[in-house]
Amino acid sequence: MISTSTPPRRPRWRSLALLALCLAPLLWPLHHLAERYYQDQLASQNRQTLDLYVANLLGTLHRYETLPQILSELPALRGVLDDPFRLESVTNANRLLKEIAQQTGAEVMYLMDVSGNTLAASNWDKRDTFVGRNFAFRPYFIEAMQGKLGRFFGQGTTSAKRGYFFAAAVREHGRVAGVLVVKVDLDHTETLWGRTPEQLLLTDQNGVVVLTSRPDWRFRATRPLSEVERQAIVAIQPYPTQAPQPLVLGPGTWISQTRDIRETGWQVSILAPQQLVDRSVQTVMAIGAATLLVLMLLAGLVMQRRRHYIDRIGFEAHARQELEKRVIERTAALEGLNTRLKSAVLERENAQQELVQAQDELVQAGKLSVLGTMSASISHELNQPLAAIRSYAENAEVLLDHQRTEDARGNLKLIGELTGRMASIIAHLRAFARRDRHAPESVALQPALDDALALLAKRRRAMAVELVRDLPDATLWVQAGETRLRQVLGNLLANALDALTEKANPRTLWLSAETREEHVHLLIRDNGPGFSSQALAHAREPFFTTKTRTQGLGLGLAICDSLMRTLGGELLLANHPEGGALLTLRLRVAPAGVNLQSSEDPSA
Ligand code: ADP
Repeated sequence: MISTSTPPRRPRWRSLALLALCLAPLLWPLHHLAERYYQDQLASQNRQTLDLYVANLLGTLHRYETLPQILSELPALRGVLDDPFRLESVTNANRLLKEIAQQTGAEVMYLMDVSGNTLAASNWDKRDTFVGRNFAFRPYFIEAMQGKLGRFFGQGTTSAKRGYFFAAAVREHGRVAGVLVVKVDLDHTETLWGRTPEQLLLTDQNGVVVLTSRPDWRFRATRPLSEVERQAIVAIQPYPTQAPQPLVLGPGTWISQTRDIRETGWQVSILAPQQLVDRSVQTVMAIGAATLLVLMLLAGLVMQRRRHYIDRIGFEAHARQELEKRVIERTAALEGLNTRLKSAVLERENAQQELVQAQDELVQAGKLSVLGTMSASISHELNQPLAAIRSYAENAEVLLDHQRTEDARGNLKLIGELTGRMASIIAHLRAFARRDRHAPESVALQPALDDALALLAKRRRAMAVELVRDLPDATLWVQAGETRLRQVLGNLLANALDALTEKANPRTLWLSAETREEHVHLLIRDNGPGFSSQALAHAREPFFTTKTRTQGLGLGLAICDSLMRTLGGELLLANHPEGGALLTLRLRVAPAGVNLQSSEDPSA
């Protein structure tokens, strides 16, 4: 199990907030820099506008500056001064002035006498003509009369148009005979080029706004006026009002830039709304803040990813450790199991060896036991011919005494036959008792059966057991060991006789054989009591017996079964449907052997 004891950590937003706090002061220098930058930019832009405006204004003024001087030389105008009441010369002068005014673009041109009365004017034919009007109070007249170039800005008392007046004296014979004035319209210079948010402000020497792009600022005083100035204003009437109201500009609302025009004593200012800078600075600040936010979010994201990465590495390391631990445990367990298995295999091999040995010994013991039980009948078998031999020998002695040599010869022949039979019995006995380690070979079935029957012939006859043989004449060759086969057959036949003792006559023993495919089946049937169900289940087990201790050891069928297996055959136990036991020996068919005498044959 992977440990989950450490609780999942929360993202460290606190450290992010701290970072934001640390970075926020960076916005102040940014604000400052942006403000400086936009102010500088605006200033340089306004400086250019201002320069352009001043150049334009001065250009306009310079164009007309020398005009009164030049006009004063014209004889047609001088003639009017000579004789002001001559209608023709006045009319001529009027027409001339009008023509020149039209050509030069001046608003109005007029000629005054030394008292300030207007004698001729370019607007002679207009309703608000200057002709007949007196402008002696205007400063330009006074200056011109003094022989200087008269200059003046003011709103026309008749036309109500603002303009700049240039005046020059008309001299005759060294004295001033009159004054010629040119008025330039400045109304059109009041606007800046394009619809910009910047405002124009032109103040005269009194600090009063004379030209401005904001009509509500017009003729307002940008500074407090002195008493002398007030009186002068009343006297020369440059403005429509005699007491200009102060101009109040909200502090911090405008960024102004001013230029002096020395020759007129004016000041031109450009006022740019502070808003312009503020708005740009705000945009920059918004971008800066957004960038900061994005940076912080990115930092947060990176932090989060890093934390996930570390968590994952930790988790994987833990899982790997756990896995390694489990692998080690498992390997140890497997090694233990392997060792146990090895020792189990070793034990098993030992046990098998012991078993093989025990089995071997069991077979041997079985043989010996069978030998033991058979020893009585064997000794009987041998005693009988011995007794017969003795009596034949005694008889032969008597016969030889009576010269009956032929009869004696017959007795000796019988003795010879009897010894042959005894030798045969002994040979079987030896073969039975000997350990058998030969490989299976071809054995003839019928002779082996005959031998086994011969060993039990006497007992069978004593019990009056009828033998029914149903065997083919042709020799049946089976794969077996000569001795082992005889031993098995002897055992089975002895068991059958044992079973038949428990039954009254008639007692019958059936022997039959048949070949099925690769096997020869030898059937041994008796009409005894047959196997009990328990015997049928356990008869093959060693030491299972239903007989008394003296009668049986319970080894016969166990040995037979094991021998049959070593021969590649099989022993089948059953009861015949009509009663009695039916034992089947299933033996492999073998190729025909060379002779009927086996290599195992003890007589060989
Ligand atoms: P034992 O003959 O010494 O008892 P066996 O292994 O030869 O040992 O036989 C085991 C048992 O099988 C016998 O005790 C007997 O009960 C039963 N048995 C063997 N052959 C026969 C048979 N032909 N008929 C009935 N029972 C038999």
